[in-house]
Amino acid sequence: MPLIDFHTHPWLPAHLNHATVDFIRSISPAVAEHHDRLSDPGHAADVLRSQGVDRAVVLPEHCAETSGDVRTETVLEHCAARPDFYIPFASVNPNLDDDPPALVRRYTAAGARGLKLYPSYQFFYPDERRIYPIYEACMEAGIPVLLHVGSSVIPGTRVEFCDPVRLAPVARDFPGLPIVMAHGGRGHWYAECAALVRDHEDVYIDVTGLVPSRLLEHFPDLAAMADRVVFGSDWPAMPKSVAHNVAAIRALGLPAAALGGIFHDNAARLLRLG
Ligand SMILES: [Zn+2]
Repeated sequence: MPLIDFHTHPWLPAHLNHATVDFIRSISPAVAEHHDRLSDPGHAADVLRSQGVDRAVVLPEHCAETSGDVRTETVLEHCAARPDFYIPFASVNPNLDDDPPALVRRYTAAGARGLKLYPSYQFFYPDERRIYPIYEACMEAGIPVLLHVGSSVIPGTRVEFCDPVRLAPVARDFPGLPIVMAHGGRGHWYAECAALVRDHEDVYIDVTGLVPSRLLEHFPDLAAMADRVVFGSDWPAMPKSVAHNVAAIRALGLPAAALGGIFHDNAARLLRLG
């Protein structure tokens, strides 16, 4: 069964804040084993492939006040080393960039296949009207928007900004825009995220950063909503391996069609991989 990891990060410690680097070093077996060789995109791709990953979305983070500042340009360059494997996303910061929608257009023209927004790291509510032109740019480009939704250990996080109820107006006002909730409301809002998926046909959950063996506790209707769930790992910021998480999800007893959707088909559709 082919595997798309919808949520990975490049290991670029010089671009990350100290607390982020310390946290990742403290939990990541991949960083412990490969150290800064992971910064080499070819080596990182080989490691991910060895864990069964066929394609990996790579996320920048323009969040200097919290996690770090891995810019989209850097991720585009990283991904260009293995274009058949990596799928670059863009990151804009509504509080720091002069013209975020123009940046979205520029980054998608340069190859970005989605946009990551970090409300709790960048400090904005997703339904603020000043954010709407960013969504319009995503719709024009035909790309999904992935938003961090849930708790985080990164110092400076303001979790109130990612209350998923603030995504309901966005889903209503932008029908056809795929909205993916990274972390599925971790720690605060599992039921609210599931309700949004039920209520809006273009809203998805990315299960990154959740203990995979506990997914059915968080989402009892996981099988019924499996066409709107994508697999992600947060690699290398994860305590086990991608292969471990995949095996744990396989062991949940979901139907084969649900697993095919979660591990590949839903992401392929969102990313228009054809
Ligand atoms: Zn992440």
